[in-house]
Amino acid sequence: MAQYDLIVIGTGPGGYVCAIKAAQLGLKTAVVEKRATLGGTCLNIGCIPSKAMLHSSEMFHESGHSFEKMGIKVAKPKLDLSAMMANKQEVVDANVNGISFLMKKNKIDVHHGTGKVLGQGKVEVTSEDGKSSTLETKNIVIATGSDVMPLPGVEVDEKQIVSSTGALELEKVPGKMVVVGGGVIGLELGSVWSRLGAEVTVVEFMDKILGPMDGDVSKQFQRILKKQGLEFKLSSKVTGVEKKGKSLNVTVEPAAGGDAEVLQADIVLVSIGRKPYTEGLGLDAAGVATDDRGRVKIDAHYKTNVDGIYAIGDVVVGPMLAHKAEDEGVAVAEILAGQAGHVNYDVIPNVVYTQPEVASVGKTEEELKAAGINYKTGKFAFSANGRARAMNATDGFVKVLADAETDRVLGAHIVGFGAGDMIHEVAVLMEFGGSSEDLGRTCHAHPTMSEAVKEAAMGVFAKPIHS
Ligand SMILES: Cc1cc2nc3c(=O)[nH]c(=O)nc-3n(C[C@H](O)[C@H](O)[C@H](O)COP(=O)(O)OP(=O)(O)OC[C@H]3O[C@@H](n4cnc5c(N)ncnc54)[C@H](O)[C@@H]3O)c2cc1C
Repeated sequence: MAQYDLIVIGTGPGGYVCAIKAAQLGLKTAVVEKRATLGGTCLNIGCIPSKAMLHSSEMFHESGHSFEKMGIKVAKPKLDLSAMMANKQEVVDANVNGISFLMKKNKIDVHHGTGKVLGQGKVEVTSEDGKSSTLETKNIVIATGSDVMPLPGVEVDEKQIVSSTGALELEKVPGKMVVVGGGVIGLELGSVWSRLGAEVTVVEFMDKILGPMDGDVSKQFQRILKKQGLEFKLSSKVTGVEKKGKSLNVTVEPAAGGDAEVLQADIVLVSIGRKPYTEGLGLDAAGVATDDRGRVKIDAHYKTNVDGIYAIGDVVVGPMLAHKAEDEGVAVAEILAGQAGHVNYDVIPNVVYTQPEVASVGKTEEELKAAGINYKTGKFAFSANGRARAMNATDGFVKVLADAETDRVLGAHIVGFGAGDMIHEVAVLMEFGGSSEDLGRTCHAHPTMSEAVKEAAMGVFAKPIHS
């Protein structure tokens, strides 16, 4: 008799959510986690600490820059970085302890140590002191997440040359910071240190920031960040970083080749992406197949090529996002409990938590064009929204894209204050196959930022009122 119905390896948002759902559905469940605390990348060194730092740095910047315009006179704010870091750690602790509580509440066994798949139904757990034990189970879910993608020739020491992990732990505000990679993580952490006083230059290989996001969004967002003080070198690549005592010489070349220039920096943040994490899992020996990018190969039901072994989250194909991992965790638990688990990959929101925020769901204009889909666009700027004016938050816009024949909404893209929350009304609409007319004829409270979503939708099937 197997000890468990399910063992989940990794307790990030994919793994812990899967375990909770499985336990709720009556499966005897255990998790294996090699980190001292539960919650994975997301809660320990990702989503949560970065959002704590984004919020604190935003408050610091706001109090120094926009209070006076609203008639609030305060002394110039002083930064106490160690207190800011302590606050961030408190936030992390509260979250990871919350996961431990949820494991107990749902009667899920927690095994601390590195999990290795010995084959169908067997997981070896090796704890820090080197002791191993073997657990038996009917099913295994691999949810081991991802790790920082290295930049060839540039060694991360997490002091001067940092990954996102080190960038969340800096002991002082750098004078100059070079961010390698203009994706979500680089722009969020670049914004944090820029608001706290660093001169930040973002070097991006592509000719736009935010890679696959809608082109309009990338352009406007870059303008906004530039206004906030960030510098950009697009179509450029970092080819080397040389340590000169406390300073760094960063060699930057045009992506297409050409003359190099050297930027001086105190800190270099390498944020060129993340790669699936499968080290020490024993996949080869267990016969579990991976693809050409090292991701665990799965079928439409998250099953690997080995019966009883499944995989979800950052370690498999798809966007590396916490909520995608969570939804896959729920889906695979439901499948294992005999239900019909499913994730709709066409409706996964993507948010950049800067100020203003950027949020998108569904297709971009570029994707629709490439697919030859005939579409209509409605756009509305926050500069014409009453609430945005009242809050001095007029940067940005909402863009709604709908099928030209059926009016079904295919995508929405928002740059603006609270975009990350606003996007969800479009996500729900899209889940129900709704049209721009459904959205535009839904009564929206006034005055709200969300009225811009309604107006953009009206711009697709009729005309907006306020522009
Ligand atoms: C700085 C930063 C900010 C981010 N911000 C956001 C955000 O705002 N929103 C968002 O959606 N996403 C964000 N992400 C991405 C998000 O963190 C990931 O998509 C998410 O954590 C993936 O979840 P997961 O469960 O697949 O894996 P992970 O969270 O990576 O968890 C995997 C866990 O498995 C454990 N593990 C690995 N191998 C073994 C083993 N052999 N045995 C036992 N345990 C093992 C690891 O220790 C880890 O705890 C951010 C990432 C970073 C780095």
